[in-house]
Amino acid sequence: MVTVEKALQLTNNHIKKTNTVITVLISEALGYVLAKDIQSTIHMPPFRQSAMDGYAFGSIEENVFTLIGEVKAGDDADPELKKGEAIRIFTGAPVPSGAKSVVMQEKVKVQNNQVIIEESIILNSNIRPIGEQIKKGAIALVEGTLITAAGIGYLASLGITHVDVYKKPSVAIITTGNELISPGQMLKHGQIYESNSIMLSAALTKIGIEDISYFKVEDEYDITVSLIKNSIDHYDVVLISGGISVGDYDFVGKALRALNVEEIFYKVKQKPGKPLYFAKKIGTTIFALPGNPASALSCFYIYVLPALLKISGYQNYNLKWSTAITTVNHIKKGQRAEFLKAHVKNNEVTILDGQASSMLNSFTLANALVYLPEDIIEVNIGDIVQVINLP
Ligand code: AMP
Ligand code: MG
Repeated sequence: MVTVEKALQLTNNHIKKTNTVITVLISEALGYVLAKDIQSTIHMPPFRQSAMDGYAFGSIEENVFTLIGEVKAGDDADPELKKGEAIRIFTGAPVPSGAKSVVMQEKVKVQNNQVIIEESIILNSNIRPIGEQIKKGAIALVEGTLITAAGIGYLASLGITHVDVYKKPSVAIITTGNELISPGQMLKHGQIYESNSIMLSAALTKIGIEDISYFKVEDEYDITVSLIKNSIDHYDVVLISGGISVGDYDFVGKALRALNVEEIFYKVKQKPGKPLYFAKKIGTTIFALPGNPASALSCFYIYVLPALLKISGYQNYNLKWSTAITTVNHIKKGQRAEFLKAHVKNNEVTILDGQASSMLNSFTLANALVYLPEDIIEVNIGDIVQVINLP
């Protein structure tokens, strides 16, 4: 049995980012982490670009200019522009080489082919210089960058179509339990609906993990061993739900021991989620989560999610810790550290009713978990507590 702090530290120490790099279209790159620096192959902007709809002037000393023509966005033109001359120009259009400044149209008067400006003209104003945003050959985005919508737009603006990113892990979800049937079937006495696999799958999908397989096993030793073995052989991450506690029909721990996995920890001094198990075997990461749905999800958010993100190349993903003032009293029932489903609003946190590890209803309302370390026995209204904000 380890403390929460130790379990978090061990998980972090033992999880490494993947070595597998894949190339994806930028349109599919959202949520991936860049595995290589990206160099720009162009100057951006590639030409002197007008930042305004207005007039480009061939000199800045005069107040009256002769209008000699027009350049619009997309034109492949560089008309000669001399001292005392002006040219009509639009946002995004190439600024003629001879232009000394661009002035927005609101600031000029145009009469009989003459452009008249009252205020003084500032050199190079409203002209985006070549390579203002990035120069050819410079690093546009560095390895380790999480690709966002902005990042995708930026890459597209540089003409980049594909990027090398860290592969997201493939995940096997194994649910255990004779009592479990799929939603849609009729419940017989003693049965409940299996909900952990779809719940975990949703949480995985949210972070862009798509390669997920589902396996269901009865509480039976031999098939538990062979299914876990097979999953370890074929997946990057194996998430097992249930069967990791101390009951006579909990075979997951025994199976993992028989498979000689490298146990990093088993059991954490926490509530819920005491039976959490974390192990590795060659390239596979294994978490056995308690079967109780709220325990499984708590353990997922606290330990598994950071691990999956780290494998996926995230550099600085940490739990979103903060503090808040509690609006309710709470007395702990035992010695273990507690994670309590809670709702945070404006720096105040309400510990929700229905904390039992079998209950998901409070979780559906929660946006945070209140963390009460082992040494805190109770909290009273107005106390400041530690909070983990849920994604
Ligand atoms: P276990 O960890 O196998 O002892 O299961 C603890 C509790 O969680 C039992 O009440 C199980 O019926 C329930 N449970 C286990 N697995 C699931 C699951 N996949 N979906 C819903 N409930 C589950
Ligand atoms: Mg069970």
